[in-house]
Amino acid sequence: MEQFSGKTVCPGIAFGRICIFEKPDLAIDASPSPDPEGERRAFRDAVRTADGQLAALFEKTKREVGEDEAQIIDIQRMMLEDEDFLGEVETLIREESSRAACAVDRTGKRFYAQFTALEDPYMKARAPDIADISHRLTAILTGADTSFSLRGGSILAAEDLTPSDTLGIDKRMIRAFVTRRGSTNSHTAILARILKIPSIVQADFPLGQDLNGKEAAVDGHRGIIYLEPDGKTENRLREQAERDRDEEKSLDALRGLPTVSRSGQKIELAANIGGVEDLEAVLANDAEGIGLFRSEFLYLGRSDYPGEEEQFAVYRQAAAAMEGKRVVIRTLDIGADKQADYFGIDKEDNPALGYRAVRICIDRPGMFKTQLRALYRAAAFGKVAVMFPMITSLWELKRCKALAAEARQELAGQGVPFGDPELGIMVETPAAALCAGELAGEAAFFSVGTNDLTQYTLAVDRQNAKLEPFLDTRHPAILRLLEMIVESAHRAGIWAGICGELAADPRMTASFLSMGYDELSVSPGCILGLRKRIRTLD
Ligand code: PEP
Ligand code: MG
Repeated sequence: MEQFSGKTVCPGIAFGRICIFEKPDLAIDASPSPDPEGERRAFRDAVRTADGQLAALFEKTKREVGEDEAQIIDIQRMMLEDEDFLGEVETLIREESSRAACAVDRTGKRFYAQFTALEDPYMKARAPDIADISHRLTAILTGADTSFSLRGGSILAAEDLTPSDTLGIDKRMIRAFVTRRGSTNSHTAILARILKIPSIVQADFPLGQDLNGKEAAVDGHRGIIYLEPDGKTENRLREQAERDRDEEKSLDALRGLPTVSRSGQKIELAANIGGVEDLEAVLANDAEGIGLFRSEFLYLGRSDYPGEEEQFAVYRQAAAAMEGKRVVIRTLDIGADKQADYFGIDKEDNPALGYRAVRICIDRPGMFKTQLRALYRAAAFGKVAVMFPMITSLWELKRCKALAAEARQELAGQGVPFGDPELGIMVETPAAALCAGELAGEAAFFSVGTNDLTQYTLAVDRQNAKLEPFLDTRHPAILRLLEMIVESAHRAGIWAGICGELAADPRMTASFLSMGYDELSVSPGCILGLRKRIRTLD
């Protein structure tokens, strides 16, 4: 048995087989093809090759993991026969002389968006299958290395994972994530916590292909990976997993109870989500609302902007699922580590200090208004609140509000139903914290983004693993800013919450209560534990 250690970003125990993730380089040529008939034949050949690969994967998964996981692959094989999908690809090839890989990519993304927006949970759950199939086909067509294919029960090991990589991976196949790089506060780590998948970053783990398929165990409590664990280790980890399950079961008793301290102080416990696929966890963990819906994940891992209808369907679904509880949807916070090529953002030396979030939205009002229209329309279906990220100055907030008013006016003029969401801001720059008094006069609420507030206040890049010894999330400067923010909010009569990762830190809960915060928004899996803690505090 060999063992390697790293930093835990999501606790828990997992057993599985190592699957080394290597990002396939899919060079998709979008120029027209001189030979559409050749493209059509190549496409049909690729479908046959993909079917052969999936048949082999089905057998392997059934043998090594189990019938249930193998079913996922069988469903994908059936989808390879879907006439709508095949027909649309061939239409693009025939009518637009699209190259086969490009036609598959475009069709796959369109189908993915359509399925994601469906209400029926079974159909909705087919979206990752579509993404997987079109990825497999494009990889075959572009000659990319297709050796990376996930089996069920995988421990995914990678050099690093971007938020787009993580979103693009079929999470049903994953039992744990292990990366050699990555920081504990990165968006990938945040996603892993939302998904509640045991994860370790900065692992001193070799990534040789000879490890592919090897049995391993991940101890996400202690940040240790065991290769081919011995019997004693396996027993110890299985006992720990049993204790984790017991602890989780005991938290069930907290469902439905109010989040109130022993002295009667109430605080709202909301959930952070990355998309509607997290709603199930939000409801299962009895969240009192959604305090941060990171809408930018809807824009990642695709080749074009999501349109108004697609966004509206997603936001409406979140609003309706929460049945009158508040759903705070943050407007697009793209840039820095969250990149999508189709935005055409120039490479920057300091992307965290660069063209991101409201800076892009203010600069591209047409694109921003598409999102705002979708948000206002969704607000007719529940208690939606809209939150602007990365505000540093009062004029930015005023400009965002003016664009929101324009979107609202357009809808009214067109007779489209809409609601009136609260318009608040993330306080995540030192400038916003220091000007909280002025901003509170214009904002309906504040939600403190401690991840960025810490990065910008301490001048420590949250993506840089080397700087973690300097990333003191409870630095006195941060605590002072947190006090100032809530005081300014309450003086102006607005509510204030915290949605950065610090909100879930149990060492801070008593301080947040005594500062007077109204809301804490955390990963769904942290809600019940935090409720338990608050109910024991005076
Ligand atoms: C934050 O900065 O604290 C935050 C919640 O937003 P994100 O982590 O998405 O930047
Ligand atoms: Mg932030």
